Amino acid sequence: MPQIVLSQTVQKIKPSATIAAAAKAKELKNTGVKVYEFTLGEPDFATPAHICEAAKKAMDAGQTHYTPVGGIPELKKAICDAYARDYGLKYQPAQVMASNGAKHSIHNVLTALCGPGDEVIIPAPYWVSYSDLVELAGATPVIVSTTEESGFVLSPEQLKAAITPRTKLLMLNSPSNPTGGVYTPAQLEALAQVAVEKDIWVLSDEIYEKLIYGDATFRSFASFGQEVYDRTIIVSGVSKAYAMTGWRIGWTLAPVEITKAMDKLQSQETSNPSSISQHAAIAALLGPQDCVEEMRLKFAERREYVLKRMQGLPDVTFAPPAGAFYGFFNVSRHFGKTLGGGRIVKDATEFCTAILETAHVALVTGDAFGAPGYVRLSFATDLETLKNGFDRIEGFLKG
Ligand code: PMP
Ligand code: GLU
Repeated sequence: MPQIVLSQTVQKIKPSATIAAAAKAKELKNTGVKVYEFTLGEPDFATPAHICEAAKKAMDAGQTHYTPVGGIPELKKAICDAYARDYGLKYQPAQVMASNGAKHSIHNVLTALCGPGDEVIIPAPYWVSYSDLVELAGATPVIVSTTEESGFVLSPEQLKAAITPRTKLLMLNSPSNPTGGVYTPAQLEALAQVAVEKDIWVLSDEIYEKLIYGDATFRSFASFGQEVYDRTIIVSGVSKAYAMTGWRIGWTLAPVEITKAMDKLQSQETSNPSSISQHAAIAALLGPQDCVEEMRLKFAERREYVLKRMQGLPDVTFAPPAGAFYGFFNVSRHFGKTLGGGRIVKDATEFCTAILETAHVALVTGDAFGAPGYVRLSFATDLETLKNGFDRIEGFLKG
């Protein structure tokens, strides 16, 4: 057996913590234990029937071959039509590129725009993959922590202070994974002004755009005038809004030149995303939209429940989520105390291990999101599981 020396790049990155936490929960489940699973952020609903029908039709019609790298013209047009319909934003098909999920889209943006010597500003808490995807591109993540008191919102002053001559890009995610926070239009506009003034790019990850609750509103970052539009790359996809995580369709909306660069990159990496999934995504975007609202209402009901239960947890603090489907709460007051099963933990990672092993509740550690002391609970699951899960979390915290 030859000595295996892995590349510097792959040695530098960590495995996705959300996927690892889900795998750990599954391992325990496979031993016959009933596990209360709140790790992966993926809708528990079936993909709506009319979307599946479109995929079957595509297969029957022989749409089973390579397509243009960045997607078929019909999909690019459908994406443009959906942005015009939903947000009044004008995009040309030449600005659109479809990839194998939004994660792949983010990788394309970072690889096309950033490299050694470039800094990428990431407000924390951030989605697990951001910092590693920046590292994969050879660039340097610059993490800027935000506070629970501010609703985990990056202020224009914080952004200004983090910008250096090497800053290339800001990564924003509203509604946010893991906090569920949603920036107000005014907060976004203030950041947009800084981006224009300081001449930096903005990757706006809008994958949770349709999952908004209460008084919060969604506003696309590209909608604050031409100067902002010109420096914004929107990332989104069908995974969350249409319960299509397994179909692997994400996209970018970007200036034509950047889109061409990403097309070149993808032509050498993966070629087109699945031809069948592309047809399904067209049906999702152009078909009836009531399925999106039906699922949102279910998530809204679960969010209400989760809010109530988080409020009832002893010595736990949180900023109420206004979007996405995550509860994100601070458990650091419990560190060093005796918890359920007699465990004493010193950080959120140990907390997650202990609660999984003793109460069989699977959460994701905030350490993975650049937020020590916090844990994330995905409420993309049924109310019954949420109820039993919170009963167990409460029992665990009470020791
Ligand atoms: N961005 C955020 C903020 C996410 O939470 C996720 C994962 N669900 C993605 C991007 C990637 O989505 P996809 O499954 O389409 O790759
Ligand atoms: N994005 C989801 C999550 O945060 C799915 C898993 C992943 O791709 O990280 O749980």
